[in-house]
Amino acid sequence: MNLDNISAIATAPGYSGVGIIRVSGHAALKIALALTKKNVFIHKLATYCDFYSNDGEILDSGLIIYFKAPHSFTGEEVIEIHGHGSPVVLQMLIKRTLELGCRLATPGEFSQRAYLNGKIDLIQAESIIDLIHAESEATAKSAIKSLKGRFSEQIEQINQQLINLRMFVEATLDFPDEDIEFIANAKIHDKLNALVTEINQLLANTKQGVLLNNGADIVIIGRPNVGKSSLLNTLANEDIAIVTDIAGTTRDIIKEKIIINGIAFNVIDTAGIRITTDIVEQLGIKRTFTALKNAALCLVLVDANTGVTAEDESILQQIPQNIPRLFVHNKIDLLIGGYDQLQKLDFVKETFIQTYEVNAKIHRAVNQIHVYISAKSKIGIDQLRSKILSLVGFDNNNHDIFVARTRHLNAIELAVEHIQGAFNNWDNLEVLAEELRYAHNKLSEITGEFSSDDLLGEIFSKFCIGK
Ligand code: GDP
Repeated sequence: MNLDNISAIATAPGYSGVGIIRVSGHAALKIALALTKKNVFIHKLATYCDFYSNDGEILDSGLIIYFKAPHSFTGEEVIEIHGHGSPVVLQMLIKRTLELGCRLATPGEFSQRAYLNGKIDLIQAESIIDLIHAESEATAKSAIKSLKGRFSEQIEQINQQLINLRMFVEATLDFPDEDIEFIANAKIHDKLNALVTEINQLLANTKQGVLLNNGADIVIIGRPNVGKSSLLNTLANEDIAIVTDIAGTTRDIIKEKIIINGIAFNVIDTAGIRITTDIVEQLGIKRTFTALKNAALCLVLVDANTGVTAEDESILQQIPQNIPRLFVHNKIDLLIGGYDQLQKLDFVKETFIQTYEVNAKIHRAVNQIHVYISAKSKIGIDQLRSKILSLVGFDNNNHDIFVARTRHLNAIELAVEHIQGAFNNWDNLEVLAEELRYAHNKLSEITGEFSSDDLLGEIFSKFCIGK
């Protein structure tokens, strides 16, 4: 049960015949009785009465309608006070409800309570329901997993430091003559420097936490027939894409979850990218580029016999630069004399490793990462897996991982920006205070059940007061 009683003017501002004040909360009926000096109100029945001030003066007269919980808009006890529609009268009535134990409702708070109590129907809630659903699910999960866990503690620690800094900075703002010296003596710069390091560590941990929770998208691209479907099958350990040797078979995007060291990855096998006049294939290629935008990693699969071709290069130019690339040379079994030979002859393996080392030096020089595999004969797959892990930012040696959500990551990223901003402006008190305030707000959104209210509050704040 919500302990707060809220009140607000429910009708449009300005002068009108009737103005309505709505009160919602467990004490609504008591407030109506005290306001009117009546003994009883009946559910859904309008009662004409005088409205009294604290010292017994008549403020206005009009109707009271009482809605017994849960049969009201909000699902709580509700009264509607219908007075005369003068802003002055309505202000007096509002003031009286505050004296009787209400606080002013925030924008959308009645709707928020209605939603929380399951009172808004689907049509009313249509435009916001998707948003609320997504966020409340994440909030519910994180309330259990992160509120009591390591994650909450880390956020709390940083928040505590932020609070201390804020208290100091805000207090110093009141003594303009002494500010810079004050700040210098308090080693604000050093403290901020330490905080930047700490929150960046938290950011890195959260990224891994999100990765653990959501998985990351890996896109496999490459010319038709280089073995994309075969590689996906090998990584997924089951046959989910059709493998044929007719170029351009894989026309759709297929997502498959694979687990590498306990981390889920969505591997997306894309339409074979090539210049084509086939309309269906063109559509597949378009979807490839859409899938690429959200990818954490791009596996560029090439035939080891031909290496990276001019066609590959031109496709690569179309891929966003910020997505890490891993060049995967497939079909090395053919390169070194066939799968059977590879199985039999150890020296072939050695020769291959030597070749790889030479190539690796060249690739390091041009800042590219290449691995050599055979999807069909399952050679080099473990090396590929560990390269994938390191490229998406997963550090195997980090034991400080907690489960986190994208919402947390977004908030921490913004907090990092503001703490960095505070650090960069440590000698400008006003900017410093603002940056610290933003950082504190962002981190506060993450912790506990309050964030859920904040979040809902944010959504419902798009409403008007009294709605
Ligand atoms: P995609 O068009 O890129 O998805 O390629 P597929 O996975 O359909 O493979 C095309 C052909 O190459 C099939 O006949 C596969 O069996 C073959 N292939 C894939 N990987 C390998 C490999 O590592 N070695 C050999 N020898 N053939 C392979």
